[in-house]
Amino acid sequence: MSPAEFDVLVLGGGAAGATLAGELSRLSPDLSIAIVEAGPSDRHPFVRMPFGLVALMGSRRDWAFRSAPQAALGGRRVAIPRGRMLGGSASINSMVWFRGRADDFDHWGPGWGRDDVMPAFDAVESAMRPAPIADPHPLSAALAGVHPGPPTPERVSAGPFICNLERGRRRSPVDAFLKGARVTVLTGRVVDRLTVSDGRATGVILADGTRIAARAGVVLSAGAIGSPTLLLRSGIGPGGAVADLPAVGANLHDHPAIAVHHEGRGSGRGLTLAQLPGWAVAPLRWAWRGTGPLASNTVEAGAFLSTDGASRPDVQVHFIPARLGHAGRAIGWGAGYYADVCVMQPRSRGRLTLDGAGQPVIDLELLTDDRDRATLRAGLRALRRLLAAAPFGTRRAPEVFPATGDDDAALDAHIDARAGTAYHPVGTCAIGAVTDAALAVRGVDGLWVADASVMPRITSANTNAPSIMIGYRAARMVAQALRG
Ligand SMILES: Cc1cc2nc3c(=O)[nH]c(=O)nc-3n(C[C@H](O)[C@H](O)[C@H](O)COP(=O)(O)OP(=O)(O)OC[C@H]3O[C@@H](n4cnc5c(N)ncnc54)[C@H](O)[C@@H]3O)c2cc1C
Repeated sequence: MSPAEFDVLVLGGGAAGATLAGELSRLSPDLSIAIVEAGPSDRHPFVRMPFGLVALMGSRRDWAFRSAPQAALGGRRVAIPRGRMLGGSASINSMVWFRGRADDFDHWGPGWGRDDVMPAFDAVESAMRPAPIADPHPLSAALAGVHPGPPTPERVSAGPFICNLERGRRRSPVDAFLKGARVTVLTGRVVDRLTVSDGRATGVILADGTRIAARAGVVLSAGAIGSPTLLLRSGIGPGGAVADLPAVGANLHDHPAIAVHHEGRGSGRGLTLAQLPGWAVAPLRWAWRGTGPLASNTVEAGAFLSTDGASRPDVQVHFIPARLGHAGRAIGWGAGYYADVCVMQPRSRGRLTLDGAGQPVIDLELLTDDRDRATLRAGLRALRRLLAAAPFGTRRAPEVFPATGDDDAALDAHIDARAGTAYHPVGTCAIGAVTDAALAVRGVDGLWVADASVMPRITSANTNAPSIMIGYRAARMVAQALRG
């Protein structure tokens, strides 16, 4: 078989794609499987080193998308980072590990209820080995003094997070599922569109015009931005010539988020004279023992809070015990800590479309539902209360940004100027609307979607574990379909 022909092509080697390809090769060892990934490999010290993610953002390993102008934010565009390498966003993310809330899966439709997904989460966790972070900063540990931990979206809670880190190094789905699997990994290959013949997916055309054929099928794992983009470019979408699927690109949503920054000597990590010796030995500490500031995944801790006094949390806090600037460069002189708060179940829904050049126009429609803005505003107040109540002792530092009052007008002004997302876009190829319950694209044979885009409704916490779970289950669904 020529290298330009495989049984199964997996488009995108990210969280779900790497998991799916590895699992499929184990379930169906006779299949030739190739991952077609736009970015480079994940062999880079900043991928292994947890704190390295600060440097990966905006690098060639980040797609660094920007949204369309956001109507509810005065026309501002917001940043949409996405990993562009083997491991995808799971190679650039903060490694925070949550399944979501059990009742999130009551909204995913037949075949995706909590009883269906929990065994897959169990299997994924035995491979990914998430664990409490070994060496949290004292500020991160102090959060547990406000609400009992460990943090869980099931109840009001706070403290250091559970992360997919092992001995101070990132453990990604590439390590857990792809290493050692019989999968051809083609990096640096940007897929332009699918080829479909007689209603069946037959392969892809790359941006440089090269064709790669798929004898048995194609799995789209290009993520919540990439997968609908590729479908739309291939005539599969609203009014599409190949398949008329109005839901492709619709139902785009993410956790809207807003941050506050605190700065002061002796507080969190940062560049100060007193901390320079620590930073000087940090690379050695990390390399030898997997400890110290470079072993920090940045978002070390957080909380789930209720803005209406109910026992059910409705906002999530991410806490970073380091000064990362709010203006200009992320790293600058000074020490501090910062935290953001996001809405766990946003109501606003956006849409991804294509511009005239076939590039994605990503309209998150962030906060277009007023209930989301009200919850985010209340969340900002709840975040300030949390930080005020935390037993930070002598490490406490004042809020330096936005450092405004708590009235609606001040909070709204901060939200208008700064709100973004928690980097969890989902929903653009939703199960039920774009795919059937077995992730097969409606109206096209031999084509599946397996990534965060299939979530009909976002989970109530970080989305990496659910994306890996989707990849794990998709491997079984594709293997079964190909067995016939
Ligand atoms: C900065 C950041 C921090 C985050 N932090 C956390 C966290 O701490 N915890 C958590 O749970 N979640 C976190 N997330 C979210 C989480 O990583 C994602 O939800 C998850 O990785 C999505 O998986 P996926 O398989 O859908 O997409 P991805 O993992 O993004 O994979 C998509 C892959 O497809 C490739 N691709 C796209 N288009 C093409 C194309 N045309 N041709 C070829 N290849 C293509 C991409 O390069 C990428 O490798 C974070 C995300 C980011 C960006």
